[in-house]
Amino acid sequence: MIAVEVLTELRVQAVDRTFTYRVPESLKSWALPGARVLVPFGRRSVMGIIVERTDPQLAESLAELKPIRDVLDTEPVVPGDLLELAAWLSERYLCTRSAAFRTVLPPGAFGKVNRYYEPGPGAAEAAHIAGVGGGVMGRLARRPLSREQLLAALGGDLGTLRTGLARGWWVERTEGQVVGPKTVRVAVPVLDKKSLQEAAERMRGRAPRQAELLTWWLSRDLDPLPVGEMARLSGVSREAVSGLVKRGLVQLESRAIRRDPGSGRDPGWDTGERPELNEDQRRALAAIVTQMEAPDHRPVLLYGVTGSGKTEVYLRAMEEALRRGRRAIVLVPEIALTPQTVARFRGRFGEQVAVLHSRLSPGERHDEWMRLRRGEAAVAVGARSAIFAPVDHLGLVVMDEEHEVSYKQEESPRYVTREVAWKRAAQHGAVLVLGSATPSLEAIHLVERGRAVSTSLKERVGGRPLPQCVVVDMRRELREGNRSMFSRRLEREMAERLDRGEQAVILMNRRGYSTFVLCRACGHVMRCPHCDISLTYHRSGEDLRCHYCGYTTPYAETCPNCGSPYIRYFGTGTQRVEEELRHLFPTAEIVRMDVDTTRRKGAHEELLGRFARGEANILLGTQMIAKGLDFPNVGLVGVISADTSLHVPDFRAAERTYQLLVQVAGRAGRGDTPGITVIQTYNPDHYAIRAAADQQPRVFYLRELAGRRAGDYPPFSELAVWRTGHPEADRAARAAGSIERRLKEVLPPGAGRVLRAGPAPLGRLRGLYRHQVVVKYRQWSDVAEAFREVWRESAGLCDPEGSVSVDVAAQMLL
Ligand code: ADP
Ligand code: ZN
Ligand code: ZN
Repeated sequence: MIAVEVLTELRVQAVDRTFTYRVPESLKSWALPGARVLVPFGRRSVMGIIVERTDPQLAESLAELKPIRDVLDTEPVVPGDLLELAAWLSERYLCTRSAAFRTVLPPGAFGKVNRYYEPGPGAAEAAHIAGVGGGVMGRLARRPLSREQLLAALGGDLGTLRTGLARGWWVERTEGQVVGPKTVRVAVPVLDKKSLQEAAERMRGRAPRQAELLTWWLSRDLDPLPVGEMARLSGVSREAVSGLVKRGLVQLESRAIRRDPGSGRDPGWDTGERPELNEDQRRALAAIVTQMEAPDHRPVLLYGVTGSGKTEVYLRAMEEALRRGRRAIVLVPEIALTPQTVARFRGRFGEQVAVLHSRLSPGERHDEWMRLRRGEAAVAVGARSAIFAPVDHLGLVVMDEEHEVSYKQEESPRYVTREVAWKRAAQHGAVLVLGSATPSLEAIHLVERGRAVSTSLKERVGGRPLPQCVVVDMRRELREGNRSMFSRRLEREMAERLDRGEQAVILMNRRGYSTFVLCRACGHVMRCPHCDISLTYHRSGEDLRCHYCGYTTPYAETCPNCGSPYIRYFGTGTQRVEEELRHLFPTAEIVRMDVDTTRRKGAHEELLGRFARGEANILLGTQMIAKGLDFPNVGLVGVISADTSLHVPDFRAAERTYQLLVQVAGRAGRGDTPGITVIQTYNPDHYAIRAAADQQPRVFYLRELAGRRAGDYPPFSELAVWRTGHPEADRAARAAGSIERRLKEVLPPGAGRVLRAGPAPLGRLRGLYRHQVVVKYRQWSDVAEAFREVWRESAGLCDPEGSVSVDVAAQMLL
């Protein structure tokens, strides 16, 4: 006897774990990990999935276990490597096994499934079996039977139903209510050509229409055809088709047809042409191929400036993988998953590409998933979660724009896609390619330590120059009497470019709650003396706080650096910039893109479309406009204030600013006219701004790495953030306090540093007061045990109105 661990479809907190069930003898060969099952739960039957078989050594207690009622899949839906990956997720990210396993399930796995049965290849044999016989087979031949109907016809004998499946007496078809494959009924021949020819001769007198149809079909090589299609093409009625079915010459089968998410929507401009690779691209491809063949398959950092042809290198690397009989997963940031991107992969690999993203209907997603699972598609292209695509024989995993924040999952399981991708690649001996024009410090550090190799594309394709970049000192503007948010230089450049008929992109990067305090006279920003992170202004207490260590200082009326009264907390909205732009350029058409204007579905595409068609002169927006857009007519990019992202109270503020500026500057001058980028700032000498403007990546990375090392920030350490939330502020605070205390007690000496509990940066969210405890640790294995213990204990701390969460691989402190 065996037992299995089952994750059920139930989502309530109390059952957020797996349950053990006994497997009855009759279901033994189907009860495999990854298969869906029906299990008794209380008085009900619920759906579940087998996540593993348990040790048969425990067999003595087996008798007390409830048995599973049925196995729903003939083949396990979830492959073994994904089950293994899910187990790893729950270990590494401290989430429930339920949350981890859900992550790898096919879309709609627990949706309602309708299963029905039709005669199979072994149907003839079944007619002679006791308990089945001609009666049951006759009924099946007339029309498909549901599971209940067939089971009733077999006298309720589940074992016989299963045996019949195994021997091919009948075949099982599924039709999900929402997400099953879409099927059509197709006519297929039962007999061979010669017998059918003879039958047609014989029927000519008695059933001329059927004979005619059969002859026509023979002339088409007995191609399986949908019934309607057959009648239409042959010009013979549907009844004739039914007649042939009744005579047992033809049989109807349900065939799944695919809902093609790309059909009718591909822009079609990608012809799949393969340009000749340039020198750098060839070297990059060779570096990837080398790792495909190397025993240790080290990740490859493909470091290429914007527009340098990285995607072309991915495409070639994919070809190489496919040539070796391997498959590939390509991850792109959700925002970059446009029809154009998809068309490029489709253009090269056609039907072999399966696309997975959040805009697909559940049915489309299911179909694409199953195509990968069955091996009909060899390449999965998708956003973050596509790393869990059921791709077997994986040879290559690409993470485009690997530095993107959207690669971090911010709800449980709170995984870091780079880590998961690496793990997945390791499972299969595949190569992980990390591509970016502005790699994360993590990627750079991997290369420095020799854990990854690096290859770079230094120039834009076609030798186009990178845009010229100027930095404007806003302190000086103020000194010289310009109090507007536009510098004289930016205003002048805009006027000139707009006059020439060029377009402008204006970036107003703002995070709603990033209220740092800055002196407009000298550029001084109030920082925490312990953390070197900007302090956040709290209106309620009229004080400044460090969100990292809890340091607090009263709000100052004058600048502690220069004594001027021009000190204020900062934050200008896109709406104010828009008003100002209308005032300065009354005839210009402006498209504004921020969370307010893009809330509606499709608004994003529509606004960008207007700008792309030249119906607007100025595109104004938040960081959502910074990436991946390619408009040849953009001659100018203006950044209203580089400081907004620079002073976000987060250790990655400089990194994000550098990345944002380099990426946004990459939008200018994509066409024939050289572009210009104007960056306004109160900190013109900041290394992140200077390095971005001067195109000196080395300067930035060396300086930033040194700073991270000195402050013991990632990638030199990892951060865990424990958060409590409760409608009552002091309950949230007390819970955070006790987590802090417990962590200090259980962490092994030297494994990590527990910082003081304090209010979270978003101190109140959806009616809950939030507090947090940050832990810096060196290595997961040192802290895993202790973390798990505190995690278990903390579960009830804020119940029932509040919650406790932990992110053990926090990417930001916000
Ligand atoms: P990236 O991904 O680095 O931004 P892309 O791969 O999108 O760059 O390349 C930019 C443009 O240059 C694309 O239109 C692409 O088709 C084209 N391209 C890439 N490589 C070559 C090449 N070797 N020769 C000619 N055109 C190329
Ligand atoms: Zn000052
Ligand atoms: Zn601090």
